[in-house]
Amino acid sequence: MLSLVAAIVAMASEPSPLQDICVADFSGSSSIRVNGFPCLDPEKVEAHHFSYSGLNVAGNFSIYGTSINRLTVDQIPGLNTLGISTVRVDYLPKGVVPPHIHPRATEILLVLHGKISVGFVTSNPENRLITKVLQEGDAFVFPTGHVHFQQNVGPGNATVIAFLSSQNPGVISVANSIFGTNPPINNDVLTKAFQVNRATIKSLRSQF
Ligand code: MN
Repeated sequence: MLSLVAAIVAMASEPSPLQDICVADFSGSSSIRVNGFPCLDPEKVEAHHFSYSGLNVAGNFSIYGTSINRLTVDQIPGLNTLGISTVRVDYLPKGVVPPHIHPRATEILLVLHGKISVGFVTSNPENRLITKVLQEGDAFVFPTGHVHFQQNVGPGNATVIAFLSSQNPGVISVANSIFGTNPPINNDVLTKAFQVNRATIKSLRSQF
């Protein structure tokens, strides 16, 4: 049984489409989803379904000192069933993309300008940190399902573009998924897991 589960996990990537295009029909009357969104009538498909404008500028910066503009199937409906999406990230000096996971995608990141420290962590029991400082023109891969992060370590702002192998990669922020849950995870679970007292857990939780 365990080997069957392992085989299923190993094959967990987006399937090849069974038609040329399947533009997501968000207004479709059908609520049934086989895998992705129902297809818009091909007769109604136009160029704007495959297009997006506005990634030439940074968006608003968060408390982490970064601005993240994702283009998934929600912004480009023509990505439906195609297994790819993209994101532009801008960093203020010392800006961080906190440790997170994409449950459904490998990510390849390309530095357009600036100097970025990146890393990902392999699974148990090694938990090895694979890390590198990237310069302009450097690329780096974050394998699917792994905790990864980025930090601007240069003197000025930085910009990267990344591509992800899913129309809908998903994001699990490590800190939020532990300390920012609703409702909260039981204190006894977290005090044991982190080997700290309740006050420390409460303090961490209060940040969310
Ligand atoms: Mn990422």
